[in-house]
Amino acid sequence: MSTITTLPTPDFTFDADAPGACVAGVRPYRMGAYRLDSEQESGKFVVHNYGHGGAGITLSWGCADKVKQIVQTFLATSPETEVAVLGAGVMGMTAATRLLELGLNVTIFSDRDPIDTTSFRAGGQWAVSIIETAGKEDELKGIIKTAYNTFKDGIGKGWGVFERPNFSIKETPGLELVLELVPGLLPPRQDVNPMPFQGHNMPGFEYQTLLVEPPTFIRRLKADLDTKQVPFVNRRFTSKADVLGSLTQKIIINCTGLGAMDLWNDSDVIPVKGQLAMLNPQLNLQYLYGRNGQIFPRTDHVVIGGTVEKNVNNETPSKAKCKQLVHDIAAAFGVVVPAAPVKLPKWHIDHPGNERLVDPRLSIR
Ligand SMILES: Cc1cc2nc3c(=O)[nH]c(=O)nc-3n(C[C@H](O)[C@H](O)[C@H](O)COP(=O)(O)OP(=O)(O)OC[C@H]3O[C@@H](n4cnc5c(N)ncnc54)[C@H](O)[C@@H]3O)c2cc1C
Repeated sequence: MSTITTLPTPDFTFDADAPGACVAGVRPYRMGAYRLDSEQESGKFVVHNYGHGGAGITLSWGCADKVKQIVQTFLATSPETEVAVLGAGVMGMTAATRLLELGLNVTIFSDRDPIDTTSFRAGGQWAVSIIETAGKEDELKGIIKTAYNTFKDGIGKGWGVFERPNFSIKETPGLELVLELVPGLLPPRQDVNPMPFQGHNMPGFEYQTLLVEPPTFIRRLKADLDTKQVPFVNRRFTSKADVLGSLTQKIIINCTGLGAMDLWNDSDVIPVKGQLAMLNPQLNLQYLYGRNGQIFPRTDHVVIGGTVEKNVNNETPSKAKCKQLVHDIAAAFGVVVPAAPVKLPKWHIDHPGNERLVDPRLSIR
């Protein structure tokens, strides 16, 4: 007789009014494919590294390595020592980290602190999701391989990376792409029947992938660059002419994400808003899960996400949408979301059971 092990059910208690409970960010999605190439203009060598949609964290180290190769090839005929990296998100900071390995003096220019970027708001699933890759399949093989192996090497070393099973009711396109392009990189996908969760008597799939926690990863990238004395300059560029005309560095790495839409007049870049509900951390949950949305149990929060709003360019979270996210995914476990804990007024907490005497509304003069 086979015994089916049921994995722990998340505690779906959610208070949408709590500070930081609802988060929204805008993915830098590029129609056709992400941009990773170089051009020369007005005496500058510009490397573009933007448009990674919902996969920027995932692909970051692989793209950074590619940026390094492009710059290294340029340096072979045009020796330079200074480089300007535009953007302090994951693309800018991983590229800067790799460029230091070439002995270059790197300066990062950004109009946001790393903890205010889209990168900091990402969920953290290692999967090539919500991105177009047309014609980039060969390049992507190398990028995926480098990115995955770099993250995997970072497990247990303070980068916020964990290896986790990822359960999904349907095939997950962002992981299927990896299995297809780089066979053998991830362990093979397993069929599971039934899914090992309360309320799930249907089949599904189990992948083995990584969870990359952006709050830890982004802070670590910044801390390491600080240690290496890389200057972060707060600066907003208004146009391509502003970039090309005002920077003294001849090599410029454009990692401005959604900013490239206006800065480089790239009409292929479009905003794709995503929202996240942040629940209390639950360290007993050691899996990722996808059905009616996605669950990423991180050490700072259990994050529930999965919304995709094309052409919406604002970072204002909707409490209603976040509540719906939690409600929908809880329903998959057959759970009704408990009401948010009742907030007791201070007089009640200080004097439990003695309200009538201390409630300023009830006290008898
Ligand atoms: C809700 C949500 C969940 C996500 N989940 C995942 C996930 O699970 N896994 C994953 O891999 N990815 C995920 N992503 C996608 C990921 O966050 C992005 O792909 C990634 O952050 C893009 O990084 P970036 O460095 O290109 O852009 P950003 O992080 O946006 O950084 C851009 C930088 O450029 C600067 N900049 C822009 N314009 C200018 C200007 N004109 N002048 C000066 N500076 C400028 C900004 O200040 C910023 O520093 C998610 C995204 C969202 C919104």
